[in-house]
Amino acid sequence: MNESSIVAPAVAAAQEIPAAEPVRPRALPYRSWVEVSRGQIAANFRAIRNAVGPGVEVMPVVKADAYRHGAIEVSRTLEEQGARWLAVSNTEEGIALRDAGVGTRILVMADFLPFTREAMLAYNLTPVIHSLEDLAELNRLAAVREEKVRCHLKIDTGMGRLGVRADAATIGEAILTAANVEVEGLMTHFASAGNYQSSQTEEQISVFQRVAAGLQAAGLRPSLLHLSSTIPIAYARRKAWQGMVRPGHAIYGYVSPARGHAPAGILQVKPALTWRASVLSVKEVPAGSLIGYGGMFRANRPMRLAVLAAGYADGIPHRLSNRGSVIVNSKIAPIVGAVSMDLTTIDVTQAPELRVGDAVTLLGSEGDVSIDAQQIAKLAGTISYSVLCGIHARVKRIYI
Ligand SMILES: *Cc1c(COP(=O)(O)O)cnc(C)c1O
Repeated sequence: MNESSIVAPAVAAAQEIPAAEPVRPRALPYRSWVEVSRGQIAANFRAIRNAVGPGVEVMPVVKADAYRHGAIEVSRTLEEQGARWLAVSNTEEGIALRDAGVGTRILVMADFLPFTREAMLAYNLTPVIHSLEDLAELNRLAAVREEKVRCHLKIDTGMGRLGVRADAATIGEAILTAANVEVEGLMTHFASAGNYQSSQTEEQISVFQRVAAGLQAAGLRPSLLHLSSTIPIAYARRKAWQGMVRPGHAIYGYVSPARGHAPAGILQVKPALTWRASVLSVKEVPAGSLIGYGGMFRANRPMRLAVLAAGYADGIPHRLSNRGSVIVNSKIAPIVGAVSMDLTTIDVTQAPELRVGDAVTLLGSEGDVSIDAQQIAKLAGTISYSVLCGIHARVKRIYI
């Protein structure tokens, strides 16, 4: 509750409708922190499950520390919600989850580097295999361990990044030769899923279907076929769902806008992360003052400024210098001058009540005013994924 709020007497309240109370964020003893809503992560996961229906397994992607939401807490929440699979990028991320007691299957999507293979198997992580040479190598390691090892095989259907480009016959032969490996999953990744002006996704789906059919003809039926990240789920590209989907962005509450004539979205998700910073200093400067590195900003009137205890080392994009905004007690306050490493200056002339130690919102909402990662990305000339992943590890994480 706002300390400075004026409590109207009951009689008066019955006659007058009080002006909307500005929402003030709770101050916490940190320079900068994110508040992650476990409930919203869970709600987003459920929304995805409902959208794809019970026949499609949902494997949330928690790579890059769960897009900086905190992989351990997010993974525990998802496991509680019934997730049977999680996907990470590398072995180290998988080990961190195992050490935290996460018991789901864990798919490691972008590793199998020579120095990670033994640990991957020791920690019961499931590798994505990107080449037939690696498939043979996994088979050799499995033979040494005298066990059958499971993997998912990635097909490069046209993205031109990771994955096997061979034809189905060659792939089928390699799988049959790797007798100690069970290829339980067959996957691919789209390069242009959100671009409905391009036929690339449809072409990739065709290539994938051709490979899957070719393998089937050779008696090989991986039980899990998966192609879709957030966008093909959200815009209902159902033939790309198959038996499993791999949403990342949507788990955190985001769906990027599509290009061209996209079908109506079927997914309602909301951001789960709010990013705040403490006010380190408040001061008045006269008209004409230069603000920050390079004198990038000149006050055209007397101004009240607040210096925030967060800068580009915390993940505030430097490109927001002189163009971004934050929320101060439910009002937009512009960033003035250069964002510096540990500090950012804002114009709080419109918020004379702001004091040292108060909290402002860098990303999130207060009352009716909100700033999300997509808006920040647009101003900073980047993508929302990069804004989220850019929130530095030194920014404290709080779970609500
Ligand atoms: C990151 C990633 C995903 C998740 O993508 P979103 O757009 O965040 O849903 C899915 N699959 C692969 C291979 C990825 O690298």
